[in-house]
Amino acid sequence: MNNPNIVILGAGYGGIMTTVKLQKSLGVNEANITLVNKHDYHYQTTWLHENAAGTLHHDRTRIAIKDVVNTSKVNFVQDTVISIKPEEKKVKLENSELSYDILVIGLGFESATFGIPGLKEHAFTIGNINSARLIREHIEYNFAKYNNEKENDQARLNIVVGGGGFTGIEFIGELANRIPELCEEYDIDKSLVRIINVEGAPSVLPGFDPQLVEYALNSLESRGVEFITGAMLKECTADGIVYEKDDKQVEIPSYTTVWAAGVRANSIVEESGFEHNRGKIEVRKDMRSPEYDDVFVVGDCALLMNPESGRPFPPTAQIAIQAADVVAHNVKAQAQGSNELEAFEPQILGTVASLGHNDAIGVILNDRKIFGWKATVMKKIIDNRYLLKLGGIGLLLKKGKFNIFY
Ligand code: FAD
Ligand code: NAD
Repeated sequence: MNNPNIVILGAGYGGIMTTVKLQKSLGVNEANITLVNKHDYHYQTTWLHENAAGTLHHDRTRIAIKDVVNTSKVNFVQDTVISIKPEEKKVKLENSELSYDILVIGLGFESATFGIPGLKEHAFTIGNINSARLIREHIEYNFAKYNNEKENDQARLNIVVGGGGFTGIEFIGELANRIPELCEEYDIDKSLVRIINVEGAPSVLPGFDPQLVEYALNSLESRGVEFITGAMLKECTADGIVYEKDDKQVEIPSYTTVWAAGVRANSIVEESGFEHNRGKIEVRKDMRSPEYDDVFVVGDCALLMNPESGRPFPPTAQIAIQAADVVAHNVKAQAQGSNELEAFEPQILGTVASLGHNDAIGVILNDRKIFGWKATVMKKIIDNRYLLKLGGIGLLLKKGKFNIFY
């Protein structure tokens, strides 16, 4: 019998960890493993807000695939997935087509714009290395332009962030650190710059511990951030946004709107005709799609229900990394002809969010609240732990975060 073809789509947290696990556990004579990714690097999505604000260069965030994947054991294909044809067991790529016996879908998330007019055309999103770099360069361009025009244009210095979930808040934290540096660099009075967060819920970080939310607000407001809560962003144009609060519509002039108000699964899943729940595949306990025994899903394309709350688990890197262990185990079992598949049960170890490079908040094991330097250190430990898990001590030393003050 021929070796089974295992094809993994996407080298995000879920896809790359599944690949690395499989390359260790399956011999070259047992299966052909192919990893497909748009770029020749893996990026840590959880660091992109730093790249977008310009507090961390994007080369720190991306990791060459060849540095963590053994290309003598895994066939790496740099290409873009166009569609999946599960009935034919084929994947259409931009430049070729692949056949599989076992498929792992790890194509990640994309921004959800909920049909709000103008967002797709005019807002920036923090979704990958290129979109993050664009935000950084766009802000710098506007700061550079400000003093080169006859009339000062305040819209160049107003930065609107739509959504005060973890992404919005972490980005704002970095911006609050970066703006004073940019002001010095571009001869701008820093009191002129406005960072404005527009959040639809009555408070930012809805559902998170109220004391820690208050801590975050104090930390960010003390660095000049303005929060407009209970306000839905309704429209975005090239020159600004409109939000609605208390039945009144208000405009803010701005050339920089960063949309951080929610994510959905990669739309390839829905467009390929998989049965889905708001764009995601509601997987079985063993991480297979409900329709196809040979299709596994990992990361943000998978919907996992939390039996305790009756709601889906939030899409996080933490869960994607944990799920990869089970997916790799089950793919290996299937490739070896076994039906003994493991069930995945996410273990939520905590949530830690940065508020810039020197402040953070978090809830860790047993609901312990942390903030300030302790949370900052914890965030770096989480980041470094992932690097160690992915690429060992070499990768940790190359890309790790060791300076607790920066
Ligand atoms: P992703 O990380 O989204 O990666 C998908 C991969 O697929 C990418 O390599 C991409 O290039 C590739 N790809 C996409 N489309 C195609 C295509 N058509 N063809 C080929 N390749 C393709 N979660 C946490 O747990 N902790 C945090 O601190 C945290 N911080 C975050 C900070 C930010 C700014 C953001 C935006 C998210 C954060 N998250 C965090 C959420 C977390 O990043 C996601 O849940 C996680 O990235 C999902 O991983 P994934 O494996 O599904 O795919
Ligand atoms: P989210 O869905 O968690 O938050 C989006 C926010 O936008 C919500 O507060 C919502 O009320 C608001 N919103 C929605 N529509 C709006 C509108 N029209 N106008 C104004 N506000 C609006 O999305 P996210 O912050 O991008 O996070 C995505 C996932 O990534 C989540 O699962 C999150 O937990 C995870 N994440 C985790 C971390 C961390 O652990 N440190 C950091 C970033 C992201």
